[in-house]
Amino acid sequence: MPIDPRQPYDPANIFARILRGEIPCKKVYEDEFVLAFHDINPQAPVHVLVIPRGAYVSWDDFSAKAPAEEIAGFVRGVGAVTRQLELDGPGYRLLVNMGGHGHQEVPHLHVHIFGGRQFTTMVPA
Ligand code: AMP
Repeated sequence: MPIDPRQPYDPANIFARILRGEIPCKKVYEDEFVLAFHDINPQAPVHVLVIPRGAYVSWDDFSAKAPAEEIAGFVRGVGAVTRQLELDGPGYRLLVNMGGHGHQEVPHLHVHIFGGRQFTTMVPA
C-alpha cells in the first residue's frame, strides 16, 4: 500500500531499522550522509536503493526541510554509488516514488538506481 506522504516520520519504518543496524541489508556504499544497499526484490540486473541518514519521509519532506549540506551530501552520495557500480559509462536510471500516485511504499526517502540493461519506456502505461 502506498504511504500518505504527509504522515510524521515513523522511526519504526524498515529503512530506519536498517540504518540502526537492527535488520541486515546487502550494503553497497555508505558515508556520512547516505547508506546504499541492494533492493530485496530487484527489478533490473542492478537495483540499488540510496537513503539519507536523516529522518525524512519522502522527497517532498527532504526537499522542503533538509539543510543544504544534507541535500548536497545525498546527491553526491547517489553519484558515488553509481560510479562505484561502474554505471557511469553504460548509464542508468534513477527513480523516486513520492506518495500515493508515486506508489511510495516505504516512508523513508529513497532513490532507486536501476542499471545493467537498456531501458526504453519512460513509465508504464
Ligand atoms: P517504493 O515503492 O519506492 O517505496 O520502494 C520500496 C522498495 O523497497 C521496494 O523496491 C522494495 O523491494 C524495497 N524493500 C523493502 N524492504 C526492503 C529491505 N528490507 N531491504 C531492501 N529493500 C527493501
